[in-house]
Amino acid sequence: MVDLTRRFDVLVIGGGNAALCAAISARRAGASVLVLEGAPKFYRGGNTRHTRNMRCAHDAATEILTGPYTEEEFWNDLLLVTGGQTDEELARFMIHESKDILNWIVEQGVRWQPSLGGTLSLGRTNSFFLGGGRAMLNALYRTAEELGVDILYNAEVIDLKIEDGMFLSAALKQPVNGKTEVRASTLVAASGGFEANIEWLKESWGEAADNFLIRGTPYNRGAILKLLLAKGVQEIGDPTQCHAVAIDARAPKFDGGIITRHDSVVFGIVVNKHAERFYDEGEDIWPKRYAIWGRLVAAQPDQIAYIIFDSTVVTSFMPTLFPPIAGQTIAELAGQLELDPAALEKTITEFNAAVQPGTFDHTILDDCRTEGITPQKTHWARKIETPPYLAYPVRPGITFTYLGTRVNKQARMLMKDGKPSANMFAAGEIMAGNVLGKGYAAGIGMTIGSVFGRVAGREAAKNARN
Ligand SMILES: Cc1cc2nc3c(=O)[nH]c(=O)nc-3n(C[C@H](O)[C@H](O)[C@H](O)COP(=O)(O)OP(=O)(O)OC[C@H]3O[C@@H](n4cnc5c(N)ncnc54)[C@H](O)[C@@H]3O)c2cc1C
Repeated sequence: MVDLTRRFDVLVIGGGNAALCAAISARRAGASVLVLEGAPKFYRGGNTRHTRNMRCAHDAATEILTGPYTEEEFWNDLLLVTGGQTDEELARFMIHESKDILNWIVEQGVRWQPSLGGTLSLGRTNSFFLGGGRAMLNALYRTAEELGVDILYNAEVIDLKIEDGMFLSAALKQPVNGKTEVRASTLVAASGGFEANIEWLKESWGEAADNFLIRGTPYNRGAILKLLLAKGVQEIGDPTQCHAVAIDARAPKFDGGIITRHDSVVFGIVVNKHAERFYDEGEDIWPKRYAIWGRLVAAQPDQIAYIIFDSTVVTSFMPTLFPPIAGQTIAELAGQLELDPAALEKTITEFNAAVQPGTFDHTILDDCRTEGITPQKTHWARKIETPPYLAYPVRPGITFTYLGTRVNKQARMLMKDGKPSANMFAAGEIMAGNVLGKGYAAGIGMTIGSVFGRVAGREAAKNARN
């Protein structure tokens, strides 16, 4: 039983990748460490449970990666997806450190597997966890336990005592051995974003947020982030910025995970509830565009859209949990989707008439495009004409939010007056906005958590010793 009468060197709030990397790193640096995971044991590990891969720089091919991915190329990719909204010093630091993480994470018991094929095309840049995010987490928990890290589950933190930028103690919702106060010399906040807090999302998105689906854990409600910002920590990022993809509208409200995501947009068209197209479905290759479709659907009436395609492309993309809705005619399909049949027939007839001849290749920006309609489909445009006609209903699937706590290269939080906090560090989603002002490139979420988690743990241990 964990003894809460003692004062720990390092208190880690959270139980995902960032938290575990911090806890292991702090313990290896000689600190006593307590991890407080708000979720029950079965649900431990937040959004990390759903992950598959991590993006790390490397100068040469590895056993599981097909070629080099230099620091400069990683930086250029990040610059592109964020449109320059990133802290260059921190981002370059993270990219440099990511090289070492490839080996460090293996030393903590995690195993890699050869890259998955398919539409994501990540074989050169992203390393995949053998067994997925859960197996990765299990390895980190096992290592942490073997090293002597104390871990409490169902340990939701509801308050923090902070004076002049100095953490003193945390308050648990439920007592452990009659105690709710947890004291420690340093704090590592690794408690995720606020994506599961619909009321907070509504502050920026209005009523539309009621129609959002949350792809991951219901436990990331942003309580720690809110407390830190209220108690003088500097904030970074825009509350409306987040990673959001189009997921099946039939997915559960929380924790639907990766199998509800649709990667079929480039193979068809996307219409809103008025059966009208609203964006170029072929703007760029899918890994560079999949993360904009959540926001695009969020901007449509009632936050609903439909990916429409025909029977010729059914085997071109990864199947999802839910089967497509089918109709032998466009009108029958429209009826199933509760769309106006005449409106859907008009949209598809006009689209088909606009399709130009070309050679289809979804791996490059091919020459299959439309002419004379708005919006254009600039690549991979092919007629939708072979029944059965098929559709997936989609809604915005929020992955994680970017508003967070400002940190420096030691992962130390900065206070509103610009001074570094005396003893508070942050890692993972809770500080992702330092690197991700907007946009996303697959696998960066885990890079942020691993790199800054490892640094935060090491620095917190050093801080506690002094
Ligand atoms: C479906 C899906 C697939 C994804 N795939 C990938 C991928 O392949 N690669 C990638 O890089 N990223 C991926 N991501 C993003 C990735 O999951 C996150 O970037 C990463 O896991 C964040 O790690 P974290 O430790 O910061 O947060 P989390 O892993 O979410 O952990 C946060 C923890 O804080 C705990 N917590 C919250 N509030 C409190 C509180 N008040 N008290 C105590 N504990 C609290 C939660 O229970 C949770 O354990 C995916 C996300 C989803 C949803």
